[in-house]
Amino acid sequence: MPARPLIDLHAHSTASDGTLGPADLVRAAADAGLDVVAITDHDTTAGWAAAVDALPAGLSLVRGAELSCRWQGAEPALPLHLLAYLFDPEHPELVAELARVRQAREARGERIVELLRADGIDVSWPEIMAAADGGTVGRPHIAAALIRAGLVATTTEAFGPQWLGQRYRLPKEDIDVFRAVALVRAAGGVPVFAHPRASRRGRIVPDSLIAELAEAGLAGLEADHEDHTPAEAAHVRRLATDLGLLVTGSSDFHGSHKTVRLGAHTTAVEAYERIVAAASGVTGVASG
Ligand code: AMP
Ligand code: FE
Ligand code: FE
Ligand code: ZN
Repeated sequence: MPARPLIDLHAHSTASDGTLGPADLVRAAADAGLDVVAITDHDTTAGWAAAVDALPAGLSLVRGAELSCRWQGAEPALPLHLLAYLFDPEHPELVAELARVRQAREARGERIVELLRADGIDVSWPEIMAAADGGTVGRPHIAAALIRAGLVATTTEAFGPQWLGQRYRLPKEDIDVFRAVALVRAAGGVPVFAHPRASRRGRIVPDSLIAELAEAGLAGLEADHEDHTPAEAAHVRRLATDLGLLVTGSSDFHGSHKTVRLGAHTTAVEAYERIVAAASGVTGVASG
């Protein structure tokens, strides 16, 4: 690995709401000049094997996932995302939780489509499920249907308040965040709070919760992310220093569902090495 490797620890494939298959994702990561990429699909490890098989020479792959979590300490409960790296993909309780969340996403997606159809908006749940092609289904798949129907021009527009951002937004049945942190650790993985200050996405959790999560086993915070302003990223870095947590930066690449490019934000090699050293779930980082 070069002295200053390019490390991007958050990317999505068609196993969830990205638009590149896992094999194309790792090829795109190599083409973007990355030395390390993490595959972090929502609530699934289904893309891991294909990504490992297709790994280009010189690229290292961190197997991970982004868990849909919920903090019950706010009213209504606050959704948040936990990145989990290098955990055992066969840990029974974690596997069961991920399956439950994926199932709940389908029920919720279907209800969102019912709400849209009740207002005369012609989108089809079977068509959306077919387009998701077995990947974890989410609002971006419904956004794509709204675009196909010519009702909105972009994913960003589909996430506006008139659409999936508010009017047709329904909660998911996510994993309690403390349970998620405990399960990821029990499965030998390393939990990192994704975009913790992304206020433009909606309500954010208080710093006191992040301190409690650090006590409970949280390993790090994602600071550099396109949904953080420079001030928000700086705040996250200070908080991480205060709490002894590691700091990551990443693109949160979603293919053409978002405009951000692989490697748009990156993680320092020291933080990457801390993650690898703390993990005992899957045996090591795969390299091509
Ligand atoms: P869901 O997991 O079904 O609630 O959908 C959330 C996903 O939608 C996130 O993981 C992002 O990929 C995507 N997303 C959220 N907000 C936006 C936005 N404003 N524009 C585009 N994509 C978004
Ligand atoms: Fe996503
Ligand atoms: Fe996220
Ligand atoms: Zn993500």
